[in-house]
Amino acid sequence: MVRDLAAIAPALLRNLCSVAAPPGCAVCGDAARSGAPACSSCVRALEIARPILIEPGPAGIAWAVSAAPFEGTARDLVHALKFGRRLSAARVAAAAIARVTVPRLRDLTVDASPRGAALVPVPADPLRWRWRGFDPAEELALALARELKMPLRRCLRRRAGPRQVGRSRAARRGSPPVVDARGSVPACAVLVDDVWTTGATLIASAMALRTAGARQVAAVAIAHAGRPCRTARRDLRFPENPT
Ligand SMILES: [Zn+2]
Repeated sequence: MVRDLAAIAPALLRNLCSVAAPPGCAVCGDAARSGAPACSSCVRALEIARPILIEPGPAGIAWAVSAAPFEGTARDLVHALKFGRRLSAARVAAAAIARVTVPRLRDLTVDASPRGAALVPVPADPLRWRWRGFDPAEELALALARELKMPLRRCLRRRAGPRQVGRSRAARRGSPPVVDARGSVPACAVLVDDVWTTGATLIASAMALRTAGARQVAAVAIAHAGRPCRTARRDLRFPENPT
């Protein structure tokens, strides 16, 4: 116990500093309307960003939606959450994801009933979690669960392995992360992650859910980085994207 506390103390200190930071836009730090997590400029930039729908997704994922390409304000938002430790950025991201996800949720049903659908955060590498002291995907999933009024199920665990960030696409695909399901999984799962790069972690998560009995799996993310994966040639844009 004492050893565990000592191990996570630096992360706790960083998070306390983050909480103590003066309020402002979670993305750019500028002044924001009282109580709002982001300034009007960043909110507007996310509203006009073009969401990306990949349908069908890879490896049994029915569809995957990202609120924006990994650039500009969306990239700043991911960095604010992941590296800047601004947890209020999760609220901003959740609103952006919800806006483009709600139309797709209607298609997720089991036995003609939307019951049984739940959000499932893509699990973090345990060593990264311990270092950070929080899990960006889980914070995002929590905020999204509130936004969409959907249940949240933390039913996936990732085994420790090599970091995905900084590795080549070939290296990531050659040794994908190992993900296990724990306990019962929802019949209809919507995986939540911050950024989709190669999709290796999403695919491993989807396979774990399917193996454990999930009948439908979809995925949402703040941003999509780089090329679509091989099975996502039908990379579509939402015609109803607000401009
Ligand atoms: Zn801003």
